[in-house]
Amino acid sequence: MLKVCKFGGTSMADAAAFRRVKEIIASDKSRRFIVVSAPGKRNKSDQKITDTLYECYRDLIKTGSFSERFAFIRERFSEIAEELEISLDIEEILDRTEREITEKKDADFTASRGEYLCARIMADFLGFPFVDAVEMVRFDSHGDLNADYTDDKVKNRLKGLDNAVIPGFYGKDFGGNVKTFSRGGSDITGAIIARGVSADVYENWTDVSGFLVCDPKIVPAAKSIKYITYKELRELSYMGATVLHTEAVFPVMKKRIPINIKNTFRPEDDGTMIIPNEQYKCCDDSIVTGIAGKKDFTVIYIEKSLMNSEVGFIRRVLSVVEHYGLMVEHVPSGIDTLSLVLETGQLKGGILSDVVNEIRENVSPDYIHVIENISLIATVGHGMARRSGTAARLFGALADQGINIKMIDQGSSELNIIIGVANEDYEKCIKAIYDAFYKE
Ligand code: ADP
Ligand code: ASP
Ligand code: MG
Repeated sequence: MLKVCKFGGTSMADAAAFRRVKEIIASDKSRRFIVVSAPGKRNKSDQKITDTLYECYRDLIKTGSFSERFAFIRERFSEIAEELEISLDIEEILDRTEREITEKKDADFTASRGEYLCARIMADFLGFPFVDAVEMVRFDSHGDLNADYTDDKVKNRLKGLDNAVIPGFYGKDFGGNVKTFSRGGSDITGAIIARGVSADVYENWTDVSGFLVCDPKIVPAAKSIKYITYKELRELSYMGATVLHTEAVFPVMKKRIPINIKNTFRPEDDGTMIIPNEQYKCCDDSIVTGIAGKKDFTVIYIEKSLMNSEVGFIRRVLSVVEHYGLMVEHVPSGIDTLSLVLETGQLKGGILSDVVNEIRENVSPDYIHVIENISLIATVGHGMARRSGTAARLFGALADQGINIKMIDQGSSELNIIIGVANEDYEKCIKAIYDAFYKE
């Protein structure tokens, strides 16, 4: 048995957390390759190391100096190293890091140092070799992960090692510079390492006992999901269930390696098993696996009689958004209606009215209307396809709560139902769906 374990920011916040992690690793000899994030918040009012590093970079560019803010980074890492009584010369490494940040003046390099410093300390504390992610993780000329090249590098670099500590979140770009994934990207590094060493399981250690049916900040008593498929997880994480990065399933999917989400603070809990789709039959009997959502979307609603028989209608609508370089989230349609759902953030600076005018010119709709401040909520589950009446139950629950549904999109896979509601109904809506399927 071989396990790759990734420990998230909250699992690495202070010296006590490092000790807890060491105990978890020591309790199972198959936990051999360890990926770490940068230390997160120690309490609600604290700062994540990665956030502070981005601020250091901004200070450096704006004022030419960042030493005041770097003092916070220094203090946190020195304190951890001192309390763990390790022999590593952390002060010397911190001095060098500060110099390198000053010289390179690069946002990705600066942000990556949280993971780098954390992994150096953890490697020393565990007595495992430190293997830098830049030796293995490569991005291509478009800035995307070069997955196969990276996989070869991981195989070769880790071959013959009993164990290692690897920093998450970053690798090397085409030109040889440090480049990071998007936020939360250490989850991807963990999956890359799991694929490379052909792990039996990828354990992702965080601060919750697995993937919960919905965000515990909205439903504190949300139940933990025992099994979830890669596909369901993609839908949920893309729609805002932040517990695992949306792209973390891809590397492990190729080898059908299960991901086990575990709680560092309650290691005895089973957590959630994320499994290949074909193993779904072993899952429990729930209809809805999870509920997730995101705020701040804009819907452009278009009506035109007989649009279905107008050849090229949808293409001409979509060519407008493509022309403005916009990403369309969903395109729900009826016989004579079509909606475009777009993230509001992309539509600033008058773009929205330009897009609407150009659609008007391109397809001469009978009616076009913009609905702003929309939240999208996805109700996801393989079980929904097997049961009739799921949609009726969901919509009934929302009607009971007086929630007005502004948009519905049910994919043909019957894996999810996506609805749009006003931003102010977002939390209420998630609670209502949770209660409809999970309240005893
Ligand atoms: P880490 O620092 O370990 O990477 P994250 O903060 O990225 O942890 O992810 C864990 C957090 O995700 C939880 O603390 C919780 O607040 C949030 N979260 C959002 N949706 C869910 C969900 N459906 N299940 C579990 N946690 C969720
Ligand atoms: N430290 C990085 C972040 O805060 C990466 C990670 O935690 O996965 O986004
Ligand atoms: Mg995370």
